[in-house]
Amino acid sequence: MGKVYLVGAGPGAPDLLTLRAAEILKRAELVFHDALVHTQTLALAVCARKILVGKRSGRHSTAQSFINKRLVDAARSHAVVVRLKGGDPMLFGRAQEEIDALRKGGVDFEIVPGVTAATAASAELGVSLTRRGLARHVVFVTPRAGKGERENDWAASVLAADTAVIYMGAGLAEAIRAELIGRGKPEATPLVLVESATLPEQRTLRGTLADLPALALAAGGPAVLLLGEVLRDALADRALVAIPEIRACLRRA
Ligand code: SAH
Repeated sequence: MGKVYLVGAGPGAPDLLTLRAAEILKRAELVFHDALVHTQTLALAVCARKILVGKRSGRHSTAQSFINKRLVDAARSHAVVVRLKGGDPMLFGRAQEEIDALRKGGVDFEIVPGVTAATAASAELGVSLTRRGLARHVVFVTPRAGKGERENDWAASVLAADTAVIYMGAGLAEAIRAELIGRGKPEATPLVLVESATLPEQRTLRGTLADLPALALAAGGPAVLLLGEVLRDALADRALVAIPEIRACLRRA
């Protein structure tokens, strides 16, 4: 019986991988990876067969139950099996379903954490999500519920938090804006969208909650939305793309 490693690949830049992850990839015989994992990260797995099982919302993806089964089966014939996920494997990555399947199948496993998109975006912006005096409560939240999944009140946690980082939210921009403003979040709350954080194609777009749909329309790649007073200074940061430029781009497109 082999061992399965659930490994975080980090947000994008290959050098944000942990040393532990790199060492395991070198020993890997099989790597099941997401679509967003960088080719240089995959290249570290010199001996491994690499299998794309990635999920990108709205696109074709391998059914989770099938991935779970493949991981259990793989451990029966390979010593080192890696399940490589973008960011941190335990955040919005369906890790628990894989862990449960491995436990049930009696397969040994280990988790290797990674840099999640929220902390990568915070670093790229030079904005602390817990700036003293402004924020002591950060939420990582997604409004997106999977098929057959119980809806929960994601907006309540955003309304309660000093800082919110919204994952998988760009495609739901109109609904997020309507829900939050409708429930009393000020339209002028500073908002920054960070797309493809840490990659050469990274873009940072600034505006307010009222501008969210325009910001989201201008973004194409994976993006997190950062919302809260800690982003106030970023609204004046000329390194970030501002709403008039975004509107001009959208008119040209
Ligand atoms: N486990 C991952 C999240 C997976 S869910 C993590 O810890 O980061 C996928 C979502 O993560 C995307 O829709 C986007 O909201 C966010 N994301 C992933 N990589 C990103 C990046 N490089 N820049 C901005 N957002 C990213």
